Amino acid sequence: MTESMKMKWDLSQLVEFDDLGYIEEQLAASVKAAEEFSERHRGKIGTYNAKQLLDMLEESDRETLQYEGVFIYAFRMYDAEMNNDVAKRLADKARAASMLVQQAAAFIPLELGELLTKNPSIVDDPVLLEYKHFLEKIRRAVPYMLSEAEEKVIIAKDKNGIRAWSQLQGDWLATRAYELEIDGEIKTLPYGEIIQYYQHPDRELRRRVHEVVYHDLGNDNILWAAALRAICSDHLQMVKMRKWESPMTQSFLVNDVDEETINALFNTIKKNRGVYQDYLRLKARLLGFKKLGNWDIMAPLNDTPDKKYTWEESQNLVVKAYSEFDEEVGAWMQEMFQRRHIDAEVRNGKRSGAYCVTWHSGKSAYILQSFNGIMSDVFTQAHELGHAMHAYLGTRAQKPSNYDISYCVAETGSIFGELLITEKLLNQVKTKEERRSILATVCDEFGDTAFQVATRIWFESALYEAIEKGKYLDGDLISKLWVEARDMMYGDSVEWIDEMRWWWTFKLHFYMPSLRYYNYPYVYAQLFVYAMYRLYKEQGREFVPKLKALLAAGSSKSPRDLAAEIGFNITKEEFWQKGIDQFKEFIKQFEETL
Ligand SMILES: [Zn+2]
Repeated sequence: MTESMKMKWDLSQLVEFDDLGYIEEQLAASVKAAEEFSERHRGKIGTYNAKQLLDMLEESDRETLQYEGVFIYAFRMYDAEMNNDVAKRLADKARAASMLVQQAAAFIPLELGELLTKNPSIVDDPVLLEYKHFLEKIRRAVPYMLSEAEEKVIIAKDKNGIRAWSQLQGDWLATRAYELEIDGEIKTLPYGEIIQYYQHPDRELRRRVHEVVYHDLGNDNILWAAALRAICSDHLQMVKMRKWESPMTQSFLVNDVDEETINALFNTIKKNRGVYQDYLRLKARLLGFKKLGNWDIMAPLNDTPDKKYTWEESQNLVVKAYSEFDEEVGAWMQEMFQRRHIDAEVRNGKRSGAYCVTWHSGKSAYILQSFNGIMSDVFTQAHELGHAMHAYLGTRAQKPSNYDISYCVAETGSIFGELLITEKLLNQVKTKEERRSILATVCDEFGDTAFQVATRIWFESALYEAIEKGKYLDGDLISKLWVEARDMMYGDSVEWIDEMRWWWTFKLHFYMPSLRYYNYPYVYAQLFVYAMYRLYKEQGREFVPKLKALLAAGSSKSPRDLAAEIGFNITKEEFWQKGIDQFKEFIKQFEETL
């Protein structure tokens, strides 16, 4: 096999016959099956007893598994070759089929809600034990549901309301271009390209890029503010109509968490912001600055070695890191390479970024990344394989309905995998500079994900508070609220250029319709996994089956119960503090390299 073949995935395993005609047939068959399912059950679920409900749920899971492969095939083929006309046509067909399947299944949650309103105790029937938590989540949402007619009006109005505002924000950002002088030459760059200079080694260039981008974003503040004002005001309207207890309630339902837990998490962050500020001051000293500018926060260190890794080296490192954690997991990771479930070749027309998709019926996963051999590519590989570890464990133990992972838990395997590769790399580096650069990357990432992202939650809450007080959210007021939230987190540890008050304008997470407070699961996951890693360091081998059980449980239990099973009480600040303590430990190791 040639080197480039090894770095391309083999999608043929996903389907019975690797033939486009067959795949199109199967896509059509999936729609027909969904429509027949609807004919069998529509209008009846409200009257089902426990056994009938069990049969219906099992049937739905069987159909999901039966047609899963062709959809993965079609979408992955397109991501691998987005300029290929055949791939484009097939992905179009898969998208259309997937929409029809979803439409045909739209009655299920509504009728389940109806059933659980009439008969809430059916959830506790022993016959339905396997689906207990799946049904509990629906039962929890029931009190906030509106009538079917009202829900339909909301969907129809949202299309031209908050969804249109959200699309305008995304479309406008995607079509902006910025002028930047690089090496004496003026370049015009779209948003997606100019941001690569944010982490450029040249400090002056980094500062200028921030000035140019945020100055121009600020020029359009009337548009961004209008979109954000409409989306946030609409949300508050829905809070009242649906009788959600607070603007955050919707996110608690979606993420399967509760207020007590998220409050404990954010109190811990607030109490420990000084730890992050001190790290930023330390980084400033190391770079030789009095204070970091905002353009320096994620900057590389001056003496970062530009070590390269071959595909083989990276594979060996990552598989070894997982094998040392657990042999079975290590063998699965090896299988991901051997069965060619990873597309890592760099080529034109391939989707950028990286992801891992679960292949439930094959009890495996597929990964896409573009591997250039730099250290961050090795980290990305370990991260995505962590998702694969989750998939291998979860699909062996759970039906698809119980593998609908909360955003808070979804990054558990992946961040843990990053820590395993961190440990592996630290154990084998030869120079102090290499060690320092790895630890700086780890601390920068943790700081950004735990603290910068937490700032966004304070900011979002401030937006709702302002609207409730009758204030008009224009660009200046929104910027003022952003700066207040930011300064509460960073104190005086960073110098900000004035243009940075427009930071909120580009962040699509603030404009996501019907999914508010999108950001806190990142903070949750980061601290949760660091806390677990600390436990791993304390308990050693004894901890391994605990993590495997947690991942294997999929969504069959709430994040709170999953944590309780390995001895964590996530409603307590002491638990989240363990995550911060691990961050402190990395900072200490970093300081020791100076
Ligand atoms: Zn991930």
